[in-house]
Amino acid sequence: MSVVGVIGAGQMGQGIAQTAAQFGHYVLLTDVSLDVAEKGKAGIAKALDKLVSRSRLDAAEAKTILQRIIPISEYGPMTEAGIIIEAATEREEIKHKIFEEAVKVLRPDAILASNTSSIPITRMAARVPDPSRFIGMHFFNPVPVMGLIEVIPGLPTSKETTAKARAFCESLRKEVVLAGDEPGFVVNRILCPMLNEAIFVLGAGMGSIEDIDTGCRIGLNHPMGPLTLADFIGLDTLFEIIKVLYKTTGDSKYRPAPLLVKYVEAGWIGRKVGRGFYDYTGDKPVPTR
Ligand code: NAD
Repeated sequence: MSVVGVIGAGQMGQGIAQTAAQFGHYVLLTDVSLDVAEKGKAGIAKALDKLVSRSRLDAAEAKTILQRIIPISEYGPMTEAGIIIEAATEREEIKHKIFEEAVKVLRPDAILASNTSSIPITRMAARVPDPSRFIGMHFFNPVPVMGLIEVIPGLPTSKETTAKARAFCESLRKEVVLAGDEPGFVVNRILCPMLNEAIFVLGAGMGSIEDIDTGCRIGLNHPMGPLTLADFIGLDTLFEIIKVLYKTTGDSKYRPAPLLVKYVEAGWIGRKVGRGFYDYTGDKPVPTR
């Protein structure tokens, strides 16, 4: 049992908080306001209820898990935490501001981890007072279901910090891979260009949303099509990742698909808002084009 701080109570923050609490950690959960953090906890309660209704979790156990998650409005209580995990919006300036505040309460023996999908760890570490205690910890969505975490030591990250990060991930019974601190790390470096390409293919009229998804699902034996997965990740997050790949490598193969930009500009950013390449407001997803 330990205390974990989670900053950002969106889909990833909720998943990380739920998983940590399921494996016995106490979680201090924060976001831009107490209200948003509480909404995050309500989202976790809903996810746990679903598990109970499917007989995959005992009702008493669900209650205990939920009690371990404490929404907070300021970072002060996170001085209790052995690890603080940042899972806020994929924008570097937002993350820097968060780290500035988090390091004020970070215990001398605690570590600071970012769940960023693409922002260089070394660059973020360089902005905190003790870069040796900063590390990337890239979870996969949905966190309670997905078995992998990429751990990304930056150049100044100490071996001790890497060992602590690995031990924490293993306490959640996840498989850990060490990934180099290069844009997109390992998995997103491979995945995101593929999702972006699927959006180019859609924009070029080469296939319908359903045909592209069915083609990849059956033809590549993937569990879901790339447009469904893009909606699931969040098109805003995908756009930010692709922009980082493009800017940091300077390679035009990573330029964002114009249709991805349009969907983000329209606010149709995927499942979390009820509309992306599919409309999720009815009983089953309906393609939007
Ligand atoms: P999200 O939009 O669902 O949630 C982001 C949350 O961050 C929101 O609740 C927002 O209010 C909060 N936030 C914004 N500014 C903040 C601040 N200053 N302080 C505290 N909270 C703040 O996004 P998400 O999908 O949960 O992504 C969060 C992070 O996880 C991103 O870095 C993303 O790249 C990464 N990630 C996402 C996925 C995915 O599949 N979506 C997978 C792995 C990693």
